[in-house]
Amino acid sequence: MRSITTLDLQYAHRFYGFKGEAQYLHGHTGVLTIEVEDTVEPSVNMVFPCNEIQKTAWNVLKNFDHALILREDDPLLPAILKVYEEQGIRDGAPTNKMKGPTFKTELANAYPECRLVVTKETMTVEGMIKIVYELLKDKLNIVKLTFTSGVNAASAEFETKNKIDRCPLCGIALNENGVCPKCGYKKQ
Ligand SMILES: [Zn+2]
Ligand SMILES: [Zn+2]
Repeated sequence: MRSITTLDLQYAHRFYGFKGEAQYLHGHTGVLTIEVEDTVEPSVNMVFPCNEIQKTAWNVLKNFDHALILREDDPLLPAILKVYEEQGIRDGAPTNKMKGPTFKTELANAYPECRLVVTKETMTVEGMIKIVYELLKDKLNIVKLTFTSGVNAASAEFETKNKIDRCPLCGIALNENGVCPKCGYKKQ
């Protein structure tokens, strides 16, 4: 069965080199739907608690929220970094607190200190699904991702790979020692 949850991400981007209005910098509220598949954990009668899926995903994806997402070859990138540098906000600001751990994958590098994500490919809804899957595939048994942004939407299905042991008392993933980080249950 599946547990399904959604997250909102507000971001700015543009399609560099695209012949249409999207070549200009603009913003969206994107909605990401994450579907996680596994057996139903009998004692809690759920696949996975949705708030825990959100927490796991948000820890990484908050780097995309209120962020600027630019392709690595976009000339806006050095221009914007120059302005941030001159303003003294390139390496952080006291009010920038919503920072996830920085990440670097084949498809995207996060610079949480200045709310910037640099991507290899144009950040379309399809591109976002590829990036999100890469970031979360080892943490959640993702079977489907859907991303909608304005009139655009894309979805992709995946084969689940992980054997994730769950706590019989609260349903969340046990850590590498077989201990529930929430209630302390230990796998026998
Ligand atoms: Zn757009
Ligand atoms: Zn527990």
